[in-house]
Amino acid sequence: MAGELHAAGALKRTMPIHPGPTSHRPLLSFDFTELDQEADRAGVLFLEQGETERLLLAAVRDSGWCDVRFGTEAVALDARPDGVQLTVDEGAATRTLTAAFVVGCDGTGSFVRDAVEIPFPGVTFPLRPTLADVRIDDDRDALPWPRLHNGRRGITGAQRLRPGHWRIIRVESGAPVPGEPVPGSEVRARAAEVLGDGPVEVVWASRFQFQRRASPRFRSGRVLLAGDAAHAFPPANGQGMNAGIQDAHNLAWKLANAVRGGDLDGLLDSYEVERRAMVGRVSRHVSLLTRIGLQAPRPVRAAVFQLMRLGLAVPASRRERLRNLAMIDLRVPASPLLDGAERAAGVRLPNPVLRSPTGATTRLYDLVDAGPCLLQLAGATERAVRVPGVTTVRIGPGGHRDPSGSLARLLGGDTGWLLVRPDLHLAWARTGAAGLRAAVARALGYRATL
Ligand SMILES: Cc1cc2nc3c(=O)[nH]c(=O)nc-3n(C[C@H](O)[C@H](O)[C@H](O)COP(=O)(O)OP(=O)(O)OC[C@H]3O[C@@H](n4cnc5c(N)ncnc54)[C@H](O)[C@@H]3O)c2cc1C
Repeated sequence: MAGELHAAGALKRTMPIHPGPTSHRPLLSFDFTELDQEADRAGVLFLEQGETERLLLAAVRDSGWCDVRFGTEAVALDARPDGVQLTVDEGAATRTLTAAFVVGCDGTGSFVRDAVEIPFPGVTFPLRPTLADVRIDDDRDALPWPRLHNGRRGITGAQRLRPGHWRIIRVESGAPVPGEPVPGSEVRARAAEVLGDGPVEVVWASRFQFQRRASPRFRSGRVLLAGDAAHAFPPANGQGMNAGIQDAHNLAWKLANAVRGGDLDGLLDSYEVERRAMVGRVSRHVSLLTRIGLQAPRPVRAAVFQLMRLGLAVPASRRERLRNLAMIDLRVPASPLLDGAERAAGVRLPNPVLRSPTGATTRLYDLVDAGPCLLQLAGATERAVRVPGVTTVRIGPGGHRDPSGSLARLLGGDTGWLLVRPDLHLAWARTGAAGLRAAVARALGYRATL
């Protein structure tokens, strides 16, 4: 569904950030085209979360796999060793459902998390963030964006949502008062800092808070937590929803394998171990960014921008920063399913441009379906290897070639096997097939070796 998301949003392949109300000279600039060898259309997609959710909901409904219900509140949960009973209030009546598993994706105030008595420790930052949408109807609508003003008492940013509609975000020091009314005069003053003077219609405005919290466990028996129910951190890099989607990507295939009789504890424990570590890394990074880039006094913030600018001038650190922003730098740690001693274990599968024998180009991900996959890097003479339940994609003479060489670098050789999990992270990579079947069984949480 990447095509639909791209069609609905504005993809910034290069993202200059412009200071103040009038400047056309960027404060910082991020050029995501540098990542083209490892990601398709790398960039920042500006799309309102409501739109993202509308498109995801349509895709879920089209899949035919899920029954999505609104106006249905989980009000009681009884977790047992062999299943979970969930009572839901549907307005007119309550119903009790029995399920093999329950995943609580019910936000920071999670009912499910409370029901299984998992705490949600953390901190609320001493910051007063404000969000507002405004309409403008003059030449300022053509200003380049995103825009940023490093003011004496705080930072103001602006991004264009659609013609004439802008989102203003302001973060300043102070005690957060979520829900406090925001005067229109305040929004207009903030808009002037990033868009310049002129008439502004305030569509809505609200105060919220920055938190950093994490559940010490993402699993309690057959109950799991994902998204903001499991972790919350400041939106400094815009990665909270993405982290929740990555939770779902990590968990979905494990639940499917558990339902099919796989090693339930290995599968579900690996979700907790892997995602807690990966989200923890993101959370630590954006929390540090929040402290030094938003919470600190103006001169410190200015120095941080200067340091960032210097860092972006150095190719290796620029690349690291871009990969970090795009969240493609996250490696799955060792877990019950993943042997950290194996070469390339946990590395995200790159998505290079491949070339077919006719010269046509395609991205690697277009050849890899939603299930587990074996990439066989083969010369002309190597025999194909078949493992039940695992698709094999042959890369090499007679098939697609990888001119980037990234797959051979990951493998450490020109021929061999790369085992790709359904969440597009590598589990195992070897130049010889010894141990391949046992590796598949472990990586996918099967109870017995194939
Ligand atoms: C200002 C701001 C900007 C952000 N920008 C970005 C960004 O650019 N990129 C990004 O990736 N992330 C961003 N985020 C973070 C992102 O909004 C959240 O991480 C994301 O919404 C979390 O999704 P979720 O589904 O886990 O939880 P939620 O969005 O909170 O959804 C939880 C759902 O569960 C439902 N629910 C709650 N209790 C029950 C119950 N008892 N029974 C049934 N249903 C229940 C709720 O009604 C709700 O629909 C931003 C956040 C903020 C505050």
